[in-house]
Amino acid sequence: MKKIRWSYPLFRIFGIRVDLHITFLLLLGLFCWEGHQAHQWAGALAAFIGIILAFTSVLLHELGHCLTAATYGIKTPRILLMPIGGMAQMTHIPRDPNAELKITLAGPLVNFVIAGLLFLIVGAPDMRFWYIELFSLNAMNLARLTIVWNLTMGLFNLLPVFPMDGGRILRALLAKRFDYLDATRIATYTAKVFIVIGVSLALMWGENYLMIALFAFIWIGGEAEYQQVRFLENYAGLTIGDVVTPWAGGPNDPALKNWPSLSATWPLEVYARHFETKPEAFYPVYHDGKFIGVVDTARLKSALHVAKQHRNEAIRQDKGNA
Ligand SMILES: [Zn+2]
Repeated sequence: MKKIRWSYPLFRIFGIRVDLHITFLLLLGLFCWEGHQAHQWAGALAAFIGIILAFTSVLLHELGHCLTAATYGIKTPRILLMPIGGMAQMTHIPRDPNAELKITLAGPLVNFVIAGLLFLIVGAPDMRFWYIELFSLNAMNLARLTIVWNLTMGLFNLLPVFPMDGGRILRALLAKRFDYLDATRIATYTAKVFIVIGVSLALMWGENYLMIALFAFIWIGGEAEYQQVRFLENYAGLTIGDVVTPWAGGPNDPALKNWPSLSATWPLEVYARHFETKPEAFYPVYHDGKFIGVVDTARLKSALHVAKQHRNEAIRQDKGNA
């Protein structure tokens, strides 16, 4: 059986490949069909233009992030456009809170600028400004629709739900005061509280499945990014030798015979996932052929705590010298 391709490349802009998720076409089809039901072909065309305007707004929002990120030397190979929004896949997320703040704010800012500019063109709002006929083929109506799209997109993204923009802003602000990992953890917990409230509301106001799918997607994304941050913050830059604890029994202790030996110079992040699944294990560690102690998984946490302090101290001194 041929594997289904979920996304297709559309074009390149500023060297970034823009991919369209196949479900976007489903949404387009559904919307055009509804437009056709309402006002025949004029309605279908209005729906089509409306979706293209929304799609462009999403793309410009993502470009706001990407072009700001580029000023920090961060590349974006790909932007994926989905019915629930866009996703800029950057090579990495900056650890510096100020950089993350600027990159993140740039997205919603684009939406507010678009809304503001259209507002000036469309003119002063009258009493019926917020009344929009969804499938009316009329420039004024489509402009108003785009204003509403952009205001909604900008505001929704600012909800403090990590890893959405608002959640990233919260993490960056917390990271200015607290440890980076703690900041990420608080942001992830906050997101989960908001998601539970959001899903409850979505269920109460009729079964809004797209909304629930969106929240599930954000929950999974947030948890994955938190785990990634946790891993990097805990283990990156450390070696096996950094978490060795002394072992009085020596290398021939029968307690060690079931565990493979490790070299002190090996990077910790490669083995950490394995250690985390073994609550009680003793790996003999050798340096230059000499037994220097064990990695005791039960005591890994406290050994790690000390090792991290030394590493972070070294990073601080490095920065001071730079
Ligand atoms: Zn964004």
